[in-house]
Amino acid sequence: MTAGTDLKMYNLLIDGKQVPAASGETFDTVSPTDNKPIGRIAKAGVEDVNRAVAAARKAFDEGPWRTMVPMERSKRMRRVADIIRERVDELARIETQNCGKIIVESRQDVLNSANCIEYYANLTGQIWGETIPMNGPLLDYTTREPFGVCGQIIPWNFPMLMAAWKLGPALATGNTIVLKPASATPITALLLGEICLEAGIPEGVVNVLTGPGATIGAAIAEHPDVDKLAFTGETETGKDIIRRSAGTIKKVSLELGGKSPNIVFPDTDIDEAVNGSLFAIFTNAGQRCTARTRLFLHESIHDEFMDLFVRKAGNIRIGDPLEESTQMGPVISQAQCERVLSFVEKARSEGADLRLGGVRVDEAALKDGNFVEPTIFDQVQNDMSIAQQEVFGPVLSVIPFEGEEDVVRMANDSIYGLAATIWTNDIKRAHRLAKDIRAGNISINFPTVNPPEAPFGGFKQSGIGRELSKHAIDLYTQTKNVVINLDEKKFDWYGAWPTDK
Ligand code: NAD
Repeated sequence: MTAGTDLKMYNLLIDGKQVPAASGETFDTVSPTDNKPIGRIAKAGVEDVNRAVAAARKAFDEGPWRTMVPMERSKRMRRVADIIRERVDELARIETQNCGKIIVESRQDVLNSANCIEYYANLTGQIWGETIPMNGPLLDYTTREPFGVCGQIIPWNFPMLMAAWKLGPALATGNTIVLKPASATPITALLLGEICLEAGIPEGVVNVLTGPGATIGAAIAEHPDVDKLAFTGETETGKDIIRRSAGTIKKVSLELGGKSPNIVFPDTDIDEAVNGSLFAIFTNAGQRCTARTRLFLHESIHDEFMDLFVRKAGNIRIGDPLEESTQMGPVISQAQCERVLSFVEKARSEGADLRLGGVRVDEAALKDGNFVEPTIFDQVQNDMSIAQQEVFGPVLSVIPFEGEEDVVRMANDSIYGLAATIWTNDIKRAHRLAKDIRAGNISINFPTVNPPEAPFGGFKQSGIGRELSKHAIDLYTQTKNVVINLDEKKFDWYGAWPTDK
């Protein structure tokens, strides 16, 4: 559908239908490459939340999805994955236009979204309970049952992949969903909702609402008919979600922020550690919750490492993210660009040594976009704001260290505990650090990877619960215990009172 201008119009998805917001309001979504509009989006309000939750409730209570045989659910979910793969180029292009990540990464995200949905399609037949030995003539068993209506609120940095991480396990377990993408990146979540319908997932099972988090996100978090809430975003928003959902004791899972360490020991291949460390901070222009934003470098290799690292970071090709040759795109918005640069100023004033970048890209072709140069601060102290607060941009803090104890203490000195990387060829040291670092995801001699088979989530203020893998089934099911009396003798507690004999 096309709006009054030649902008494509995207409506809400409620109860299997594309509908405008009840208020009729819309907003334009822009490309961070030039801040020009690329689509007109229905702006949902509280009334639309009520409509979507009612549709999801009805689909859960009455619809066939929850009771459908697992194999049939699996078939339809695999069809979702197939359609995503068939449309990979189109979806990747839209993702890049809307969130600015380079096309090579977007393509990977789209394919990973298909893999994630397929992984959970293959688990539908494996969601089972236990039988429990009991004394006497009793049989006891458990079943795993879906929660019901799931509110799912996601961020802008991996718009389609975060939607897939949320939808996959929720669908596999028979829940129904109200999904809310970030306002900055609404398009691919809406398209994923349409793909679910096309693949035969019944009406009302997947509803997608686009609009401001402060109104519709908050309304989803508070809604009495939402049984489970899954949120990915900033830690401060996560705290607000907990407060809002407390009134109805929702089951809440949270994937939040990070300030992840990347620790390089001298007994490693320096070239590989340099290359891995570049990936760990600069992919997606640093806008990853797992970005390794604190690089702990052993003093003895500091100079050699930094010479190579800064040179290679300076050679990263910044440009139009739709170009196959581009290696880094813009950050998500003008506001985010300003926020990143304000962190740069603060770090300078606190005494960190700026080795690279720290400015917007000064190139005529990119001046309308939100491009920030790869930025490296050296000689950072772990208590500086640049080392403690999440910047969410291409900004790295380098912190030299002397010994193992020293670096473990600093790595753990953070409110976050999402991820960590260790570069060492000493197998004992690698496992010691993997044990001692308080984070949910550790990678050794590798920057970062999150396949659907492996659990993902944070310690401390980085979150609650584990997404991906079989662990995510726990986030979307509750255990029911069933006990059965097999005894032929009639149960009669009061009639068989011992003193009455
Ligand atoms: P954000 O918290 O601003 O927004 C996330 C979502 O919440 C958006 O859809 C937004 O509209 C909505 N929202 C905003 N205010 C709300 C409210 N009061 N109630 C309910 N919903 C509300 O985060 P962002 O800026 O979109 O994303 C970046 C953040 O996400 C970073 O902190 C990053 O570390 C985090 N993140 C974490 C993971 C993870 O798995 N741990 C993954 C990706 C991103």
